[in-house]
Amino acid sequence: MSSLELLPINVAGQWRLGGGDVYESLYPATGEVIARLRAADLADVDEAIQGADRAFRTSGWAQRLPHERATVLHRAAQLIRERGEELAQKQRLDNGKPIKETRNLVASAAATFQFFAAACETLEESITPSRGAFVTLSVHEPMGVVAAITPWNSPIASEAQKMAPALAAGNAVVVKPAEVTPLMALELARICEEAGVPKGMISVLPGKGSVIGDAITKHPLVKRVSFTGGTATGRHIAHIAADKMMPVSLELGGKSATMVLEDADIDHAVAGVLYGIFSSSGESCIAGSRLFVARSIYAQFLTRLSEGAKALRIGDPASEDTQMGPLITARHRESIERYVALGVSEGGRIRTGGMRPRSVEFDKGYFYAPTIIEGLTNRARTAQEEIFGPVLVAMPFDSERELIEQANDSVYALAAGVWSRDFKRAWRIGRAVQAGTVWVNTYKQFSVSTPFGGWRDSGLGREKGRAGILQYMEQKSMYWGTNEQPLPWSQA
Ligand code: NDP
Repeated sequence: MSSLELLPINVAGQWRLGGGDVYESLYPATGEVIARLRAADLADVDEAIQGADRAFRTSGWAQRLPHERATVLHRAAQLIRERGEELAQKQRLDNGKPIKETRNLVASAAATFQFFAAACETLEESITPSRGAFVTLSVHEPMGVVAAITPWNSPIASEAQKMAPALAAGNAVVVKPAEVTPLMALELARICEEAGVPKGMISVLPGKGSVIGDAITKHPLVKRVSFTGGTATGRHIAHIAADKMMPVSLELGGKSATMVLEDADIDHAVAGVLYGIFSSSGESCIAGSRLFVARSIYAQFLTRLSEGAKALRIGDPASEDTQMGPLITARHRESIERYVALGVSEGGRIRTGGMRPRSVEFDKGYFYAPTIIEGLTNRARTAQEEIFGPVLVAMPFDSERELIEQANDSVYALAAGVWSRDFKRAWRIGRAVQAGTVWVNTYKQFSVSTPFGGWRDSGLGREKGRAGILQYMEQKSMYWGTNEQPLPWSQA
């Protein structure tokens, strides 16, 4: 065990050690211990949620005027920016992403706080057409205690995406970060408190999802869960939510189709497909992991693509040049290796990759080479199941009808990409593809102002966008009587 000091967690605004087991967070590039902490236990969960409920009722946060809450959130955005480099380096150590990527994640977290500050301050409520001697209004109220459960792949961005709108709406928020990446949620909680969010309005409870996440979801005082993670966990949470009659938003897995038509700008398409699948080492819900290329250009395109994959710079996440870092854990790499072996047993041919990169530099980290598998059909398990790693299944297609059928033949429907110079065709395909997000001649680009979420097994609900704040509010209709006479019954 390392001698690093144990890191406090946040239980109802108290920074203290959790009541659970001690565990270590490792740097995926070297396996070295970067943090030690005591996880939360079930007593911490209850204390945090009771404290959040108390803070919601008594701290006055929900009653502050929207522009006052917005001022605090703007300050949080500012603090994230001021500490940007320190946060980016910490995020790199926590999940092994290249520093250039973690800087973008930090910038995205700051932008999210800024955006929801604006959404809070400019949120309009409506006066609806009245059908009697009363004025009718539709207004929104905060819910109370809401929970945010997040995965390990983009911690600071996904945590900001839940904390900022939840706080903007006036709620208290209990965050359960992924066990292996606890650091960013703790940092965001410190920043929010420093910016002026009252103590107790935020708790951060690192620990095992099956214990801590489960207890948070089931707690009667938790009024909504916003979850990002795997489909199986999302389904489990949805079952609990059904019993509690509790709203949830579920941002789940994907197996996104990228489609390259024969008239595509090949330079752009090659770069876009490589970025779409191999950035973040493929540990991305929106990774373009199923590639369909028009048969007439398939051979030429795959040659360019595999050359590009081989040329990607894998290595030290601290280096400004690195394009692909390690995978999150040794266990996750083993799962990816099993998928590649499955692909081969299903009749696939490895065009490039399919192994751990060889060099002393890669000895201790959980690296895996960018891998392209050909020769499978869209029905193969390797083409249907989410691998969540740098593995691309490439397939040729013959007609637009067949392309759309295959692209839609998946339980997932999170994202898709179309590469074509023919804007009418790209429009037609973009509209026909069933997915929460479709990129045309670009991929994996995001705006916090644009709603994000999946269809089918990829999830329920939307995050981001101006309406993102409403997910964390209950809607209320008000009837305001203007009648001069008593209601007819009372005249009787
Ligand atoms: P998991 O579903 O295993 O975990 C996500 C979070 O849920 C973690 O904090 C985890 O805790 C927690 N958790 C696990 N079990 C439970 C439970 N029974 N009750 C409540 N919480 C629980 O996903 P991964 O961490 O493996 O993340 C990868 C998945 O996330 C992929 O499928 C990916 O597609 C998806 N994802 C979706 C995104 C989207 O926006 N659609 C974005 C990013 C990822 P613990 O850490 O202890 O396991």
